[in-house]
This record gives sequence, C-alpha cells and structure tokens, in this order.
Amino acid sequence: MNRTLAALAALSLVSVSTVAQGQAPSLESQADAALKGDTHAWDFVEGITTEVGPRQAGTEAEARARAWATAWLTAKGFANVADEPFMMDTWVPGDIARARVTAPFAQDLVVLPLGDSAATAAGGIEGEVVFFRTVDDLRAAPAGSLKGKIAYISHQMRPAQDGSHYGFAGPVRWVGAGIAASKGAVATVIKSVGTDHHRNPHTGGTSFPEGVAPIPAGALSLPDAENLERMFDRAGGRPITLKLELNPRQIGQTQSGNVVGEIVGSNPSLPPVLLACHIDSWWNAPGAFDDGAGCAIIAAAALNVARSGQPLRTIRVLMAGAEEVGLHGSVAYSKAHIDEAIAVGLESDFGADRIWRFDSNFLEANPALHRRIAASVARFGVSTSREAAGGGADLNIVRDQKGALIDLQQDGTRYFDLHHTPDDTLDKIDIAQLRQNVAVWTQVVGILADESTSIQTGGPIPSAPAIMQRQ
Ligand SMILES: [Zn+2]
Repeated sequence: MNRTLAALAALSLVSVSTVAQGQAPSLESQADAALKGDTHAWDFVEGITTEVGPRQAGTEAEARARAWATAWLTAKGFANVADEPFMMDTWVPGDIARARVTAPFAQDLVVLPLGDSAATAAGGIEGEVVFFRTVDDLRAAPAGSLKGKIAYISHQMRPAQDGSHYGFAGPVRWVGAGIAASKGAVATVIKSVGTDHHRNPHTGGTSFPEGVAPIPAGALSLPDAENLERMFDRAGGRPITLKLELNPRQIGQTQSGNVVGEIVGSNPSLPPVLLACHIDSWWNAPGAFDDGAGCAIIAAAALNVARSGQPLRTIRVLMAGAEEVGLHGSVAYSKAHIDEAIAVGLESDFGADRIWRFDSNFLEANPALHRRIAASVARFGVSTSREAAGGGADLNIVRDQKGALIDLQQDGTRYFDLHHTPDDTLDKIDIAQLRQNVAVWTQVVGILADESTSIQTGGPIPSAPAIMQRQ
C-alpha cells in the first residue's frame, strides 16, 4: 500500500513537471486523464448508435457503418484509413417472426429467427413440441425420434462476471438446431441464450452440420420460454403444439469489409500493435455494447497514446466486418495480411463495463513485460492471472501467426442481459466504466507500442533494423 501511494505520488509529480515544461503528457497522466474525462470513446459509440444503429453483416446498413467509421477515424487524424472489402454469403432475417401455441393453452409467444435459420413454408409450420431441458438431453434423443416434431431446448444460464455461463449455455443456440434437424425435427425453438427477463428474444448464429439441411430455428424470449415450460408442467401428458412462421433467407454473396486505421509509429518497420473490435451487429440490436463500445475503446486508446507522443511502433485499429455471422472479417483480414507480422493483438468485444483482469499469453516467455503491464494497471483496479490469453474473435491473424495476445477482461455480469437484443442501446453504457476501459487500454497499448524488443519473448525482433536489435 505504502509503495503504491509512493509510486502514485511520484507519478503525479512527473506529470506536473512535464506539463510545466510544456512537453507531451506522460503515458501515465494520459491514462489518468482518460479515466477522468475521455470523450473520444463516447463520441464514437454515441455517434454510431445514433447515426447508424443496427448494422447486420453484409447489408447496406453495415456498409453505412463502415463508411461512418472510416469518416470518424479520418476526422480524428488516423493515418492509412481504409475499408478493405471482402465477399461473404449473406443471410437476412426477413420480416415475419411468429410463434403460437395452438393447444392446449393457445397463445402467442415472442420469437425471432437465429442466424442461418431456414424459412418455414408461407403461413407457417405446425408440430408437436418435444421439450429438452439441456442440449445434452437433445444429444441423447434416439436417431429419427424427432421426425415431424418441433424441438424446444432449454438451459439454466446465470450471470457471471467472467461471462463463463455463455460457454455453458451457448451450445443450445450454436448447435441445438443442427442436432435436432439431424434427428428429423422440422423446426427448433430455444430458450434465448441470455440472462434478462425482458420480452426480447436474443438472436445469434446457429449452424447445421455438413449434409444436414437447415431447418427453421427461432429463439423465444426468456419469459415466453418459461411460459412454454409451465405449459408442459400443466399439460398432464397432452401434446403441446406450436405454429411457427419465419421468413429469413440467404441472399447469396454480398460485400462486407474491414475498416482499418493507424497511428504511425516512429519506426514503422517494427511489427505493429493490433487493436480489434467488430463493426457489425445483429439487425435487431443497435450494438452499443456489442460492439460499438469495443470500437470506441480501442480507437480512443490509440488517440490517447498518440497524444502522449509518437509511439515507437505503429498502432493499428481493426474494426472487423461480419463478426457476428461467422468471423468473416477476421478470416479475410488474416488471409490478406498473414505475411505482415503483428507484434501483439488485443480485442475489445464484451461491452463497456469495467476491466477487472489482465491476461497475456507471454507470462512464461516474457515475464518482465507481463509484470510491468500488470503493475501499470493495478491503480485502475485490474488484477492479473496465470490464465493464458486466447484473444478475441477478430484476432485470427495473431493466432494464425502464433503471436502474442492480451485479454483485458471486462465485467460481463450484465452483458448477457443485452446481448443480441433491442436492449443493446446507448443508455446502458455507464460512462465512468467506459472511461475506465479507455484508461486501462491507453496504459497497456502505450507500453506495448514503445517496446523495442519482441513482445512475445522479450528478445530481439528478427526483422528489426540492427539499431533496434542492439537495445
Ligand atoms: Zn461482439
């Protein structure tokens, strides 16, 4: 405690003296200033949710979001701003999503299609519902046992700071429809993979195994799913029948793109620090938490680092397209740039609530740097761990290069109340927590961007100029 106070006192003295001498503020004071009053991140997320809103991958709404982000980065002074196009197979949700219990307790339920769902016949499809409490119960159902039936799959997801129940409940959405289809089901509805009790279904991608034709697949809001489950309790063995009508469709290949921009370092021959987020959202979600906030945080951090002086390494932001529907932007970026070494990758894609833990995948190989970063963010309430960072979804290039990764873990307690729903709106962002994110990112990115040796190993960078290798 004493040591921390002394270090803080020393830091504030340093920042006062640099300001007095008219030099650029130190990285530490820049990070502290971000905690108190960063405006860049709010400016981004307020702007994109207000001027663009929902931005489904591969559609004209996503194209508008990319144009908006390109203009924002340019206006803020980023260099080498570009929208790097790629083609993708695009699915759109349609405009009909209806579910109605027809017997024994006739009433409507609130439903939305899952990404890659097939359409029902016009007018809908009706069948008996078979209730599975878990995805493992569905897996255990005999082959062919769902012929002509509609599978309903439940789960018991709970909020968690680390969001770990997404891994527990997520398979209901990710693979449930495909398993049900392979056993003969004509459609699937799931309890939304979420933790709120608003009457909003949580959409998200589903998938069908090779050789299994897609079936209509919808998510019920949690209150509607619980209502359906109560019907099973009261039905006394009578069949429960559901009529489902969805009209999503595949529209073939359309264009998406990855928006990039740079703060150019003083030695651009050094591998850059890559900061990632994704620009797309689901059609039903304005995408404030997922992932407008992430793009806002990384861009703000890059700007704050630049304000404390030109970094040694280039800082590149990657606002990936088409993440939600299958990481198309991440895959395309890696394919296009695989031969350009990345020094280290970091991603923000878990909302806007505070960062509580720093993880890296170089604790063993470069313990000095890991410890230095951990110490630098302790004042923001960020701990560290021995967990190996795996990087976010848009960091395929770094994983493909087997490079250095950092995870700045955010508090996910309320993330799955909002995830992939119409509730993912700007008012949910707590500006104090958003600024804590920017402060931590500014501090960490600033350290990484000034590292002259390999971030992964602490050793020399093989491709670096000789002058760098002597340091
Ligand atoms: Zn996301």
